[in-house]
Amino acid sequence: MKASRDVIVIGLGGMGSAAAYQLAARGQRVLGLERFGPTHNRGSSHGGSRITRQSYFEDPAYVPLLLRSYELFEKLERDTGRDITTLCGGVMLGRPESRTVAGSLRSARQWDLPHEVLDAKEVRRRFPTLAPRADEVALYEERAGLVRPEATVTAHLQLAYQAGADLRFEEAVTRWEALPGGGVRVHTVEDVYTAGQLVVCPGAWAPELLSDVGVEFTIERQIMYWFHPRGGTAPFERHPIYIWEDADGTQIYGFPAIEGPEGGAKVAFFRKGTVCGPETIDRTVYEEEVAAMAGHMASRVPDLPGRLRKAVTCMYTTTPDQHFVLARHPAHPESVTVACGFSGHGFKFVPVIGEIVADLALDGTTELPIALFDPLRQFATLEGETTR
Ligand SMILES: Cc1cc2nc3c(=O)[nH]c(=O)nc-3n(C[C@H](O)[C@H](O)[C@H](O)COP(=O)(O)OP(=O)(O)OC[C@H]3O[C@@H](n4cnc5c(N)ncnc54)[C@H](O)[C@@H]3O)c2cc1C
Repeated sequence: MKASRDVIVIGLGGMGSAAAYQLAARGQRVLGLERFGPTHNRGSSHGGSRITRQSYFEDPAYVPLLLRSYELFEKLERDTGRDITTLCGGVMLGRPESRTVAGSLRSARQWDLPHEVLDAKEVRRRFPTLAPRADEVALYEERAGLVRPEATVTAHLQLAYQAGADLRFEEAVTRWEALPGGGVRVHTVEDVYTAGQLVVCPGAWAPELLSDVGVEFTIERQIMYWFHPRGGTAPFERHPIYIWEDADGTQIYGFPAIEGPEGGAKVAFFRKGTVCGPETIDRTVYEEEVAAMAGHMASRVPDLPGRLRKAVTCMYTTTPDQHFVLARHPAHPESVTVACGFSGHGFKFVPVIGEIVADLALDGTTELPIALFDPLRQFATLEGETTR
């Protein structure tokens, strides 16, 4: 057995790469273990773009984390010279009482975030590609936009490596255990390692690696679609991101065309996934799925759904209330920290999650507000049911 490390990080995707960097930058001897290669497309952190925004309809409690995450994304760009963030503005659309609009407005007002409320006519005037119904309104946020997931993960891996982290790819963890006298032991397909602290950032493999964390995770297959706009890409190049909620609660979201004239523009349903497993997920996208997406867009962003350029699957790891799990492991509070269950909206938080995980692993606590993410909380579903 080799020399013990200070911290082992399991999973080097979005969250784990940020955690490995933060821990190594704080002088820890870090071992990072990842089952696939660096920046792969078999988890949850691929597809070229992720929405970022501050007027958070999910809950105002996320806002302080978002403010910090914006600062850390800026620092990441400066430290690595990579193009990561594009703040192209964001339009949150729906009826005034929809979660997307009312929830965004609540966060904006509570935190005094710059925003505008636009009626349907004003939306059409300023963003001619969008065709809201007369009873729909929008919250416009200038500081919303997108971050690039692959560039983010690559940047964090690069900085972690430069800070001395030992990063091992194609080395899956088979199991881990907290040792009675303190510390942890981690078994991989290659070897066995020990460390004082363990950080588990397993993405869609949470049910397997964190079965004793006490949270019921659902792994969902989601699809991202890139369409060639009917009249050419130009109107979609300088374009805001948008999230659009229907009367029945269905949400879609879309991006500007960031990959040039041939790249198309990306759009997806926010939460219309099907249950899957990380090893058994069906990566084929079917014609009827493409037709359903194109049909949904036809009345809202009529010029978007031209020819399909590509469609790619991705996984959500969803908790019953769609809030994250971010804490010391309730069963092993001395030596294990967990960051998972990001429920399809975690990427915009990646750098701040890395910072919080490092705080928790090294100090046992953090100054950032994370009470909402306690694995021992009451899980109220969006329909108001309580599962614990
Ligand atoms: C289609 C789609 C759209 C999204 N859109 C947005 C958006 O617009 N805005 C936003 O903020 N968020 C969005 N998200 C969510 C966001 O991307 C995720 O919350 C985030 O990427 C999760 O990061 P992670 O580190 O938990 O998972 P991952 O990045 O998947 O990392 C987990 C890693 O653990 C590794 N691993 C697992 N098990 C083992 C093992 N046994 N041994 C070693 N390694 C292991 C995996 O290989 C993987 O690399 C979206 C997600 C999807 C799928």
